[in-house]
Amino acid sequence: MEVQEHVDCIFCAIAAGEIKSDIVYSDDLVVGFRDLHPAAPVHVLVIPRRHVRSLLDLGPDDGELLAALHRAIRQVAEEQGIAGDGFRVVVNVGEGAGQSVGHLHYHVLGGRALAWPPG
Ligand code: 5GP
Ligand code: ZN
Repeated sequence: MEVQEHVDCIFCAIAAGEIKSDIVYSDDLVVGFRDLHPAAPVHVLVIPRRHVRSLLDLGPDDGELLAALHRAIRQVAEEQGIAGDGFRVVVNVGEGAGQSVGHLHYHVLGGRALAWPPG
């Protein structure tokens, strides 16, 4: 699997520690950090360290990465104290869904009641 760091990608820079962020989770494959503009009392972004543009760019070799992302999401939810009450995981894919950063990220939201359907 190639390691590709995107020069102009803000989340690659965060994963590399080049841009400051409030990191709450880190392992070899995955980083979790607080969203700059939180939409809930707990709002963490969980990302692959590798630059993956969107969910559509994951391939058949990405099983290990997907498992790591899901384990990280679970750990973040438990450590942030939102696993019990319930929380939401959101992946915006493409412009129409509001994806504004072109590096795959999972929003982990909790700490308040979350309406459904989302806007
Ligand atoms: P999207 O709209 O692409 O699904 O989500 C991007 C998220 O990244 C937004 O919620 C936005 O607040 C967050 N974000 C954008 N730039 C930064 C940054 O430099 N640092 C942090 N911590 N979050 C950011
Ligand atoms: Zn990136």
